[in-house]
Amino acid sequence: MAILGSTGSIGTQALDVVRQHPDAFCIEVLTAQNQADLLILQALEFRPDIVVIGNETLYEKVRDALAHTDTKVFAGAGSIADAATCESVDTVVTALLGYAGLQPTMKAIQAGKYIALANKETLVAGGALVCRAAREQQVAITPIDSEHSAIFQCLAGEYMNPVERIFLTGSGGPFRGKKREQLQDIKPEQALKHPTWHMGRKISVDSATLMNKGLEMIEARWLFGVNPQDIEVVIHPESIVHSMVSFQDGSVKAQLGLPDMRLPIQYALSFPQRLSLDVPRLDLAQIGCLHFEKPDTGTFRCLPLAYQALDKGGNMPCIMNAANEIAVQAFLEERIPFLAIADLIARTMEKASFLPAPNIEELNESDAESRRLCQESIGASSLMTRAR
Ligand code: MG
Repeated sequence: MAILGSTGSIGTQALDVVRQHPDAFCIEVLTAQNQADLLILQALEFRPDIVVIGNETLYEKVRDALAHTDTKVFAGAGSIADAATCESVDTVVTALLGYAGLQPTMKAIQAGKYIALANKETLVAGGALVCRAAREQQVAITPIDSEHSAIFQCLAGEYMNPVERIFLTGSGGPFRGKKREQLQDIKPEQALKHPTWHMGRKISVDSATLMNKGLEMIEARWLFGVNPQDIEVVIHPESIVHSMVSFQDGSVKAQLGLPDMRLPIQYALSFPQRLSLDVPRLDLAQIGCLHFEKPDTGTFRCLPLAYQALDKGGNMPCIMNAANEIAVQAFLEERIPFLAIADLIARTMEKASFLPAPNIEELNESDAESRRLCQESIGASSLMTRAR
């Protein structure tokens, strides 16, 4: 197995799964962007064949720390993509951050690797290209995202039966129930306090804006081949029902469990088998009530923007994703207010050049153009005044 992004939240939990089942999995490749110290510790524990540090300035540090081992050390984005194609690897866990996941995932698919997908931005930006490549190479993509894992588990044994509707559940994030006036002076620390899941910084902000649900809606469209109007987002604050699927006889199947990412990670790696997992068990009587409500799309405008982007198609989801990545980073650096995230995405979607059927080079250009346009809008003070 190769884990691309092994030092992040998903990567470290994937290694926990491997620790629990040392006979089932073998780590051949580990890659990280900046966290050299943790990457070195992981390499010393798992003894992979190859380690890649994305940030080239950290190459010597990693190389020297592993000089006494058999692990080969490389650096740079190109080496991350190359490592995914390495011959001894049959499964690639894509836990990279953001658009940077697209290139290595495409390379791994072209090399015929089985993909355990945690990087949702890959399918958001390049869904049509990625799915076409996977079909051509007859490569399976199994989801690690908890909602998509739930849908995938609901579909086991149902491959002859068309899906009528997908109910994508989401906790609603830390600001569920709040109105726009109450969200004007939100600080990054508040947005990072997720009520039910412990996750990385970018996805935590995406959960607070509901963009995470928008990205997941697009991810579901590509993974399961459903129409966007048949994917319904349902807010479920307890995060116990991880998603649901309904069929043409009106039956609804759901997958339940306590919120713990190790379960979907392990299922993506062990499918179609289920392996034992040492996590707390669900006690429904103790939980007592499960609640469900419609999302507040007037307050959380990122969710309707995602539906708009998917409806428009072409490179529009790629434009939306690029603007979101820039806006979230700017918010985390306290350069823009929380509510400006949606404004910046909407503005970038209006300004960026639209392409109905982009290839991978055109997507890369569109991603770069959208990032530049979004940065320019951040520089324009009028938007920030309006947002405040
Ligand atoms: Mg999710």
